[in-house]
Amino acid sequence: MGLEKIRHHCGVTAVWGDPNAAELVFHGLYSLQHRGQESAGIVSTDGDHFFRHVGMGVLTHVFDTPNKLKELKGFSAIGHNRYSTTGSSSPFNIQPLFATLRDGPIAIGHNGNLVNTKPLRAMLQDDGAIFQSSTDSEIIIHLMARAPESDMRGKLLSAIQKVQGAYSIVMLSRDAIYAARDPHGVRPLCIGVKGKSTVFASESCALDLLGYEYVRDVYPGEIVMADDSGWHGERFTKGVTTHHCIFELIYFSRPDSRVFNEYVDKSRRKMGKNLALEHPADADIVISVPDSSNTAALGYSQRSKIRFELALIRNHYVGRTFIQPTKAMREMGVKLKFNTVGGVLKDKKVVIVEDSIVRGTTLRKLTELIRNSGAKEVHVRVSSPPIRHPCYYGMDFPTRTELIAHNRTVEEVQEEIKVDSLGYLSVETLLDSVRRGNGVDYCTACFTGKYPIPVNEEESGVEGSKILFEE
Ligand code: SF4
Repeated sequence: MGLEKIRHHCGVTAVWGDPNAAELVFHGLYSLQHRGQESAGIVSTDGDHFFRHVGMGVLTHVFDTPNKLKELKGFSAIGHNRYSTTGSSSPFNIQPLFATLRDGPIAIGHNGNLVNTKPLRAMLQDDGAIFQSSTDSEIIIHLMARAPESDMRGKLLSAIQKVQGAYSIVMLSRDAIYAARDPHGVRPLCIGVKGKSTVFASESCALDLLGYEYVRDVYPGEIVMADDSGWHGERFTKGVTTHHCIFELIYFSRPDSRVFNEYVDKSRRKMGKNLALEHPADADIVISVPDSSNTAALGYSQRSKIRFELALIRNHYVGRTFIQPTKAMREMGVKLKFNTVGGVLKDKKVVIVEDSIVRGTTLRKLTELIRNSGAKEVHVRVSSPPIRHPCYYGMDFPTRTELIAHNRTVEEVQEEIKVDSLGYLSVETLLDSVRRGNGVDYCTACFTGKYPIPVNEEESGVEGSKILFEE
């Protein structure tokens, strides 16, 4: 998706039962940096005191000296990488959020987006709640503070039964870590173990790095508690068909991760293979837009028997500098991030496999670059269907009217991006590329407009007018 990638929402990691818990959480978050680069933070506890360090920016900016990690003492910690989907970009919104309730302190990290934020916030404010942030996650804390239960699990359960939407939560108390997922299981969250220590993370790539064994996902509609006796889970809903976010498999999650009990690499490859069957192309080479469409492009190449080539080289350091590019440099746009390998493209009929098209501006520039490098024909194949609707469950798409596929046929999109042919994977074939059945299904609302969790735009607190793309 190149420069106009959809921004990820958040990543969480939590470790119970290790004297270096904060350090482990730091490294877990490091492997999940792709899920949020706006702010980061870690809260730890030694059972008596809580320690918190948070800041704006990527993890290594927030923890820029070893002391900041050393100060986070204790055997237990949770951490969060954030990119805001609700709530503005402000230091007040950095997670994990911390609060002292009547029955003790807690810290919370939340991945996802609630859809009944406005009425809950209004109800809580009418009842005297003073909000410190504009995040939907803080609502959970206020609901917990008002819950009659005296134990933290009971309070958390009481709170999450009042919220609707997508949430994968980790919560730290003095004597346990709790992990919970919404009944539809929109966002991922998995469990790992090493000896007596338990870890929770948004994606299994964090477990691999920390040397924990993947056990399973936190089930949709489950709260799992980890403490000195190990971990155990309890379902709070049953019989709800899951609706995992299919975009996690198309683009968001790392290809080396396992989410929703699926290997991301495997499903992405299958999407590429199915795309080759559904939309074959008469071409000499298949290329990807690194890095996000590499795997789907490999699948396309394997099934079509058209040679895979590396023709676009990405500069991984764009956007990681404080030096602002000049206007002239900014106008170079896509060239800042990608360059072509001329020798590979010259006189070739090229298939570009892309994972998704949002506004189409980057892809149009990329195809221009590819033509200027001598390609004879440029065909685009997309390993997902046209995006035509907003996401209310935690992803930032632009407004409907800015989506290139909004109110346009595929032929019209093809004309807009100026390519010789264009083919999108159909919704049916996309769903055929993943495992379903036995109560497991996927959310495809941004393609179909069918929202599995009912959304009232007024109540959701999600503004459909936000444009939150990286430029
Ligand atoms: S609307 Fe799209 S991005 Fe949002 S949860 Fe559903 S599939 Fe994922």
